[in-house]
Amino acid sequence: MPPQTRILAGDCTVRFEGTRDRIQRGHVVVLVKPDRTVLVHDADGYQPVAWLTRPDDVTIEHDGTAFSLRAHADSQELLVTSNAACGFESFDVSDAGVPVGTCPDCDGPLIRVRGEIACLDCEERYGLPAGATVLDDHCEECGLPRMRVDRGDAFELCVDYACESLSAAVRERFDEEWTCPDCGAPLRVRSPDGRIFLGCEAYPDCETSFSFPAGTVVDDCECGLPRFRTASGERCLDGGCEVDQPRTESAQ
Ligand SMILES: [Zn+2]
Ligand SMILES: [Zn+2]
Ligand SMILES: [Zn+2]
Ligand SMILES: [Zn+2]
Repeated sequence: MPPQTRILAGDCTVRFEGTRDRIQRGHVVVLVKPDRTVLVHDADGYQPVAWLTRPDDVTIEHDGTAFSLRAHADSQELLVTSNAACGFESFDVSDAGVPVGTCPDCDGPLIRVRGEIACLDCEERYGLPAGATVLDDHCEECGLPRMRVDRGDAFELCVDYACESLSAAVRERFDEEWTCPDCGAPLRVRSPDGRIFLGCEAYPDCETSFSFPAGTVVDDCECGLPRFRTASGERCLDGGCEVDQPRTESAQ
């Protein structure tokens, strides 16, 4: 069952007990979110007149004509009781995200939310690699949105890895492109669990490996490895490279 937000409305008395006790009465609307967050809104502004964010528990009693709500978090308590005929409804809710297309399985709307693409109408979800940008165009094979992902180069791929695999694209482009700084063997693109890294071909004799940065190659480091431009700046593939990042001025 999808998560639901409950909405209670009417002439209510609102008691808040915490750092500062308060009692208010008015025609209000009370939202109870799936994470139990309670918001009491009156006629004015965007800000609730009383609220509790993710309280430990929420108890609602209602008999069709009246209700009472009690929410409790640590030393705070919020109590809302209706004084006259009131409304009580529940609605399905979901995360809200940027619309990015149409679900090929059910024609439902696709949204981008917290590192994945989700369908609002079915269970379909596609995890996005770190730093991915969802593009306006769509995959000709399956109809899903395409994305841009920087892994050494800028790759444009279907968001479904079963359709177009990022690790396969990175392997095709960068396998054996660089050599191991410790033994001179080629560095191989490996992705045993979805995570992409460069590992020495001589493994297990040589255990040198580097995680593949989420950025593009801009030039070569003096150590022979590539330098990447990432969201946090430019750096050698080897995060501990001493040529690229002199430890201290005085050490030279
Ligand atoms: Zn769907
Ligand atoms: Zn596709
Ligand atoms: Zn090696
Ligand atoms: Zn370096």
